[in-house]
Amino acid sequence: MTFKAILLTKANDQFAAQVKELTDEELRAGTPEANVTVAVEYSTVNYKDALALANKGPVVRKWPMVAGIDAAGTVLESADARFSPGDKVVLNGWGVGEQYWGGLAQRARFKADWLVPLPAGLGTRQAMAIGTAGYTAMLCCLALREQGVEPGSGEILVTGASGGVGSIAVSILAGWGYRVVASTGRSAEATYLKTLGASVVIDRAELASPGKPLQRERWAGVVDAVGSHTLANACAQTRYGGAVTACGLAQGMDFPATVAPFILRGVRLIGIDSVMCPLPHRQNAWGRLAADLDRGKLDAATTEVALAQAIVVAPALLAGKVRGRVVVNVNA
Ligand code: NDP
Repeated sequence: MTFKAILLTKANDQFAAQVKELTDEELRAGTPEANVTVAVEYSTVNYKDALALANKGPVVRKWPMVAGIDAAGTVLESADARFSPGDKVVLNGWGVGEQYWGGLAQRARFKADWLVPLPAGLGTRQAMAIGTAGYTAMLCCLALREQGVEPGSGEILVTGASGGVGSIAVSILAGWGYRVVASTGRSAEATYLKTLGASVVIDRAELASPGKPLQRERWAGVVDAVGSHTLANACAQTRYGGAVTACGLAQGMDFPATVAPFILRGVRLIGIDSVMCPLPHRQNAWGRLAADLDRGKLDAATTEVALAQAIVVAPALLAGKVRGRVVVNVNA
C-alpha cells in the first residue's frame, strides 16, 4: 500500500517540502516506536506546522520528516488493547511532526499513549478545525477558571485574536459568559471577532511597544498568544489577583517585563504547554471542547485546504495573514 504525505527533506542544506507517495514499510521505519496505524482523514496547519513547512524555525529534529503536529482519523490496526480498528482518534503534539512522522499524510503511525479517543459529537474535521491551536486555547481558558477568574470577575484580554489560538479562545470565553476584549492588528477582522463573541476589539499597537511596569488595572484574565512586549503590557494592566496565561510567541520569545505586577498586585502568570501535556488534561480539554465550543463559530473560523495547499498556506500564516484555523483534507 502507498499513501500521500508531505515529506520534509534536507540534504546539503537544501530544504524541500513536497507531497510524496510513501509505502507502509517507509512509514514503519519513520516511527519505529509507534504501535497504532491510523487512516488520517484531516490534519491542520498550526503556527508550528507553518514554521516547519516554510523551514523558518528549528521544529524538525529528524530528516526526512512527515510534517504535521496534529491528526484525526480512524484506527486501521493496533497492537495496544486500548484501541481497535474503527476507533476515531485525535492526536496533538508529543513531538509528532518534529521527531516522529506526522499527520499531514493519509496514513500515520502513533504510540497508543499519545492518542485521545474522539469525544462523542465531534467529527474528525471538527477536531482538526480545533487542532492544537484550539486545544491550547481550551487549556488557557480552563487555567483561568482554575485560577478563580469567573465571568463576573471582569474583562478578559485575548491577544493575537484573529489567529488560531485567539479565535477559539474568544469563542470559548464568550460562550462561557465572559466579556472578551480581542486584540488584533487587523482592524478589518473586527466584525469577524464580534461574530465569535468579542465585546470589544482593540488595536494590538496599544500593547506592542515598551510600557510602564505597572499600568491602569483593566484585565481580570488574559489569554496571550503573542509574548514579548504584548505579554509584558498585559501583565502590567492585569487587575489585583488576576491571572495571565502565556502560550505563544507570535510577536517574540522575549519577555521584557518587571516583577512589579507579580509582587505588588499578586498577578499570576501561568505557562501553557500543549505538546507534553499529560493525557488526563488533554482528555478533559477535548471533552470540554466537544461539549462547549459553538459549532457555528468554529465553522466561521475555519478554512479547508487540500494536502498540497498546506505548503502554500504556511508563509501566509507566519505573516499573520490567515484568519482563524486552516483544516487540511489529506484525501483531497
Ligand atoms: P496564528 O498564526 O494563527 O495566530 C497568531 C496571531 O498573532 C496572528 O494571527 C496575529 O493576530 C498575531 N500576530 C502575528 N504577528 C504578530 C506580531 N508581530 N505582533 C503581535 N501580534 C502578532 O498562530 P496560532 O494562533 O496557531 O498560534 C499562536 C502562538 O501560540 C504561536 O506563537 C504558537 O507557536 C503558539 N502556540 C503554542 C502552543 C503551546 O503549546 N504553548 C500551542 C499552539 C500554539 P492578529 O492579526 O489578530 O493581531
